[in-house]
Amino acid sequence: MRIDVVTIFPEYLDPLNVSLVGKARARGQLDVRVHDLRQWAHDKHNTVDDTPYGGGPGMVMKTGPWGEALDESLADGYEAGAHLPALVVPTPSGRPFTQRLAVELSARPWLIFTPARYEGIDTRVTEEYATRLPVYEVSIGDYVLAGGEAAVLVITEAVARLLPGVLGNAESHQDDSFAPGPMADLLEGPVYTKPPQWRGRGIPEVLLSGHHGKIARWRRDEAFRRTVTNRPDLIERCDPAAFNKKDREMLSILGWQPGPDGRFGRSPEAVEE
Ligand code: SAM
Repeated sequence: MRIDVVTIFPEYLDPLNVSLVGKARARGQLDVRVHDLRQWAHDKHNTVDDTPYGGGPGMVMKTGPWGEALDESLADGYEAGAHLPALVVPTPSGRPFTQRLAVELSARPWLIFTPARYEGIDTRVTEEYATRLPVYEVSIGDYVLAGGEAAVLVITEAVARLLPGVLGNAESHQDDSFAPGPMADLLEGPVYTKPPQWRGRGIPEVLLSGHHGKIARWRRDEAFRRTVTNRPDLIERCDPAAFNKKDREMLSILGWQPGPDGRFGRSPEAVEE
């Protein structure tokens, strides 16, 4: 996968040299190019922002430098043999970044990120490139950062670990919270490693049993326990067809019952408690 990042703070992307993403780069699984937007600003102060039309506080990033930066990055990528680029625009007003979207982006061969500063980029830039490429406007959460670089780090790491051969154990992301599959839409439950005793705390007996069926059931029960506590909205949204008899028993123990439409909700007694 090729990744281009255009930013006014190239050094902010230095963590892309470290750990999983750094190793994927070293192995040639990820080709990351970080570009300084100011190289496409032509006045003596390398200006990339201007006052907003309509007034108001803050500054807006100008079309000119972004247009040139994206044209050149695209031309360079095509020349190097990259294909099917997609633009990823971090913005608090974008669609939420989820594991599902990470999976979708990981299937693309080339991502170009446009982390902004100030009040964001003149809207005509995304409009223009949307006529040529898929554009993903993405928010990493309901809060406002000072710039999009941290969002690029988050998205890149989530995407890179899904690329074939990047994780040591290819199966380890299949059990993750939110991973598509049997645990879809459930959070991952607790995990343990050696030693078996620590400060008087042991580990659940079932994990030592070697009984794969019982361990899988325990993990799923714990996933329900954690999800109803931390993200009840995920259970409420779940298609009840995804729940088997044991799941329903567990949900009932946790105080959840199916409503008239079959979807699960907290039973009225549990809500009152
Ligand atoms: N005025 C903008 C708004 O309310 O939508 C906020 C601009 S913010 C100060 C500057 C930049 O930081 C954004 O253009 C975007 O690149 C990035 N950013 C801030 N919060 C973000 C979030 N939650 N997700 C993704 N990017 C974010």
